[in-house]
Amino acid sequence: MNNKKYICPVCGYDGLEEPVYDEIGEPSFEICSCCGVEFGFDDFDIKNLTFDTVREKWLKDGAKWFDKTAKPKNWNLEEQLKNLQLPEVKNTIDDITRKYAEMYMKSKN
Ligand SMILES: [Zn+2]
Repeated sequence: MNNKKYICPVCGYDGLEEPVYDEIGEPSFEICSCCGVEFGFDDFDIKNLTFDTVREKWLKDGAKWFDKTAKPKNWNLEEQLKNLQLPEVKNTIDDITRKYAEMYMKSKN
């Protein structure tokens, strides 16, 4: 066991218990307490969604917390979104987005 937390590539929340995808690309099926995305379940491949489009929708809907009990008292959306600019998060987002784009193209053929 470790106490390492992981950053959500959709909303930047840094309290995930597991990496959203492991090294062989298996999703964690963890639900983000903040944006409510369940990794591996939210049909990114079918609907051709990317983390960017999901994030946009979440922000448009008012950036609501999925699990309000997990919301820190002094929560700041802008600060949280800065997590998305961290190099390791950006690489993850790019990798996964590419993977889903490939899967989507294959499923159309
Ligand atoms: Zn999230």
